[in-house]
Amino acid sequence: MRNDEQYMRLAIEMAKAGIGQTSPNPIVGAVVVNSGEIVGFGAHLKAGEPHAEVHAIRMAGEKAKGATVYVTLEPCSHYGKTPPCADLLIDAGVRRVVIATTDPNPLVAGKGIEKLRNAGIDVKLGVLKEEADELNRVFFHYIATKTPFVTLKYASSLDGKIATATGESKWITSEAAREDVHRYRAVHDAILVGVDTVIADNPSLTVRLPGSGKNPIRIVLDTHLRTPLEANILQDGQAETWLIAGSGVSGEKKKRYESKNVQVISMSTPHINIDELLHVLGERRITSLFVEGGSRVHDSFVRAGAVNEIVAYFAPKLIGGKQAPTPIGGIGFASMADVMQLQIRRVETIGPDIKIVAIPK
Ligand code: NDP
Ligand code: ZN
Repeated sequence: MRNDEQYMRLAIEMAKAGIGQTSPNPIVGAVVVNSGEIVGFGAHLKAGEPHAEVHAIRMAGEKAKGATVYVTLEPCSHYGKTPPCADLLIDAGVRRVVIATTDPNPLVAGKGIEKLRNAGIDVKLGVLKEEADELNRVFFHYIATKTPFVTLKYASSLDGKIATATGESKWITSEAAREDVHRYRAVHDAILVGVDTVIADNPSLTVRLPGSGKNPIRIVLDTHLRTPLEANILQDGQAETWLIAGSGVSGEKKKRYESKNVQVISMSTPHINIDELLHVLGERRITSLFVEGGSRVHDSFVRAGAVNEIVAYFAPKLIGGKQAPTPIGGIGFASMADVMQLQIRRVETIGPDIKIVAIPK
């Protein structure tokens, strides 16, 4: 027989099955244990489909009676696309519910726990809370701010250049590092770049991995609509593309771009304000945004304080050149007192390259 932490760890592993698939919902895992025997388990796999608890309780059947349920997130208490899981657990006659962390969604927020306790179920809260919070940091950020969780990524030479002075950037890092980037793309709702990156590199911004699922939405910051009509992202039909324009572009110009897969979204101001952009994307249910350059776009996000995580790859190459762009170009900070302070979370090697993951302090 295992202890609460060990069963919860199993539920967390179960939850991971849903990574990249459940947006705008959280990822959740559940395990049902009766007299030391695991009698059911489940994960939430897709918005609109059954919650983790439903799968687990169904599997347990009659053995759910008197059982303990381990669930990584507080069971829901509201009628959404599916009936409340708190009611399901009560009706199934479970004796005890162990929960890793509460659901900050105002529709749930403690009400699920209250419902269980009112029904006489023994509820234990906070087992492996930190790990469970980490698992759903994107969802929690989105619920709290109504804006997407922003990850800023770049591939740089060891001397901190993201292209040569003539603008060449294919390829700085190894295939292994580039594959890692594709794994990040696959779990994001949208990828964002600046129009000058589209002009310089004509990227596809799709997920190219064996057996990969859906492509994220591709978003371009393009104030005056300068994206070439023959650009890959407008032509290949591989994913939806959104062009973000300033308030000054004419309806006629917009029409030239709009098609089944391309939308033009105008901001309220002549220039694109990152704060407004993130709120607009949040309203459109973008919960996670992967920002892939170039250097001026990165600068805008950094100065707006709109970065939640940085993923930086460093290749053992020296590019040099005063004119060669660096990861964060544009204006930057004038004073050391104002610079963005980071905390390094991980340092790894990927093939010949180094990967650093950092978060703002
Ligand atoms: P960007 O791709 O950052 O595009 C900048 C342009 O985006 C601006 O000139 C502006 O044009 C538009 N834009 C609209 N709104 C904003 C905003 N709020 N903030 C910033 N820009 C905005 O261009 P860069 O020239 O800085 O970088 C491109 C270079 O970077 C290329 O050489 C490319 O190869 C390289 N690169 C390297 C990567 C790497 O990881 N190694 C990744 C990506 C690019 P407008 O006013 O017309 O809208
Ligand atoms: Zn539920």
